Amino acid sequence: MEKHTTIQPVRFAADRMLGRLTRWLRMIGADVISDPAIDGAAILSRARREGRITITRDKRLRTASDVIWLASNGVAEQLREVFERHPQFSQISMDANDRAFTRCVGCNTPLRSIAREALASRVPPFVYASHRNFSCCDGCGKIYWDATHRARAIETLERIGVDTQRIRTGHVSA
Ligand SMILES: [Zn+2]
Repeated sequence: MEKHTTIQPVRFAADRMLGRLTRWLRMIGADVISDPAIDGAAILSRARREGRITITRDKRLRTASDVIWLASNGVAEQLREVFERHPQFSQISMDANDRAFTRCVGCNTPLRSIAREALASRVPPFVYASHRNFSCCDGCGKIYWDATHRARAIETLERIGVDTQRIRTGHVSA
């Protein structure tokens, strides 16, 4: 049964210590804010203002109801913990508008399709020659293209034990 009209994309705020996890969550479609300039308490209050679930390793926050406290150090275990603590996450994230590979992993901005011709001088020639679809991040200027990194990312997630059947890769809309 398709549910995408009734559920909201899941939104997180990650502690600044969780950089690798933050990038993985964004890659699979989650809206994750994280600010290297602000500490745990500040990110928590921002998360609460914006209705986000906070992800942290700060033990003082482990009993808060709107916090996912992580016991693990490694990113694979941390991803697994997020999925366990928030079992709807994969469905929510992947069935709503947020799709895997449509968000900048560096700054969380949704990506925008960009005409290949506009990029001739901005990407390496072999990339330009071998890829059709490009998108760019209006937040930080990073350029993305369809590449084997998608397949590798899916493989890694499967190794971690994430049910990748649920992950739907999106086409970036302009
Ligand atoms: Zn960006």
